[in-house]
Amino acid sequence: MDEHLARERHACGESATLPLQLLLIALEFAPDGQSHPLEVATRLRCGLERDHSGPHHDFVRELDGVDPGEVWARWRSGQDPGSIAALPDCEAVNGLPAGRDDACVLYAGHPGGHSFSYADPEYTEYTARDDGHAA
Ligand SMILES: [Zn+2]
Ligand SMILES: [Zn+2]
Repeated sequence: MDEHLARERHACGESATLPLQLLLIALEFAPDGQSHPLEVATRLRCGLERDHSGPHHDFVRELDGVDPGEVWARWRSGQDPGSIAALPDCEAVNGLPAGRDDACVLYAGHPGGHSFSYADPEYTEYTARDDGHAA
């Protein structure tokens, strides 16, 4: 029944809402104290590849001038996010020529494939059907 799900690679897409407590912590990550609540994503959607191991992750906010500069929330299925952390970028690129090149938007050491190697259900026209030739 679910054969098509097994063949096609998709993002996980598990959703969650960032609790107020973590929103406040996310704001405190800003070094300059000039952060605004609207800079923090509170409607989360896991961007890892479907059936990944470990907790779900979504990007919460970007920090200026700090390294690592991306704050991520993580949570278990059916639970509210329990923690956030600043994580370094995944540096993987797909190796295709300019125009078709793409970089992974996830964090370093994430489980599953890189973001450019599976389809995100919200970008269905963006099929990851490349034949895998590296330039
Ligand atoms: Zn997930
Ligand atoms: Zn990656």
